[in-house]
Amino acid sequence: MKIWYVGDKSKALCETCRKILSTTFDYYDVPLEKRDGVAKQIMAATCDDCGTVVAIPPQSMPAIRMLVRSPEFGD
Ligand SMILES: [Zn+2]
Repeated sequence: MKIWYVGDKSKALCETCRKILSTTFDYYDVPLEKRDGVAKQIMAATCDDCGTVVAIPPQSMPAIRMLVRSPEFGD
């Protein structure tokens, strides 16, 4: 799997801008999709145009999975 580092550039579809735009990887706080909560400081790519998080690389998934299962969120 490709490991991304802070400042790496890529391209992705931004749903906010509705087009393919260049993105920059950095550590961000990313809201969880399936439940309330925020994954703090995980590697993600944001749209260079609007700043929306548009991609989360596989390397960040273990951290998110751990958070989703974490008891502090309860069920
Ligand atoms: Zn955008």
